[in-house]
Amino acid sequence: MIKTIGVIGAGTMGNGIAHVSALSRFNTILHDINPEFTEKGLNTIKANLERQVKKEKILSSEMDATLQLIQTTTDFGDLKNCDLVVEAATENEDIKLEIFNKLDTICTPETILASNTSSISITKIAAATNRKHKVIGMHFMNPVPVMKLVEVVRGKETNEETTTSIVELAKEMKKIPVECNDSPGFVSNRILMPMINEAIFCLHEGVGTAEAIDTIMKLGMAHPMGPLTLADLVGLDVCLNIINVLYTDFEDEKYMPCPLLVDMVERGELGRKTGKGFYNY
Ligand code: NAD
Repeated sequence: MIKTIGVIGAGTMGNGIAHVSALSRFNTILHDINPEFTEKGLNTIKANLERQVKKEKILSSEMDATLQLIQTTTDFGDLKNCDLVVEAATENEDIKLEIFNKLDTICTPETILASNTSSISITKIAAATNRKHKVIGMHFMNPVPVMKLVEVVRGKETNEETTTSIVELAKEMKKIPVECNDSPGFVSNRILMPMINEAIFCLHEGVGTAEAIDTIMKLGMAHPMGPLTLADLVGLDVCLNIINVLYTDFEDEKYMPCPLLVDMVERGELGRKTGKGFYNY
């Protein structure tokens, strides 16, 4: 039974996952490499909980109880008693393989190890451990406290028991789990990222302004936000990483990242998190 959940990475996704985990009454341990990052993550959780209280989505007593259930740490060893660890560190294969290898050595054999990766192969991540059957993708959407979907990604060796546990857990977190198999970008980003990349090509080639591209997709396709606004929300570095995974893994030119996306990432214009992307924040 899952009682304690570790979350690795206190950034955009990690703090959101810790938020829903603790709000769903799980003991939650939020880990990052630097106390500044865990503190920033915790402050974001507080601000988001306060917003939920203001909107009358939760009671202020629930906010207090949620915060009580979150422990932050920079000591990896503190994750050793978790029943589940959800990794939400930077989208970099080497970082993730190292984390899973370390988790495998410190956690009990029963612990399920999940990754929130957007695109890296779950089967490859699982191969860094000696518990391939207990490794799974638990792909939350941004912003985690708001978005209902959890894409549950089965690696080649993920077993039924692990999948069932994660599906049930996602429901306890009031999310809607949908299962799929491991493949570059899974379902969500296999479809989303080429669309975002194409929108960036439209901007790059002067086919339309950012506002025009976003408005066409919003009004014409009934998307809640345009692709460039969404890219700014996701983070342009994250988008570039994912499109590069598709490009490399499928070896198909159609996934080539737009040069404008590459330039913007090099300039540090990463979207909302840096105050500038396709729009200013
Ligand atoms: P982020 O850059 O906001 O946060 C990543 C955090 O991981 C940082 O705080 C960093 O310090 C930390 N980190 C890096 N190496 C670490 C290590 N070895 N140990 C512990 N912490 C470490 O990134 P994010 O947007 O939160 O993305 C995290 C993961 O979630 C990525 O795999 C990404 O692909 C995935 N994801 C992102 C989104 C999105 O919209 N941003 C959506 C779904 C999934």
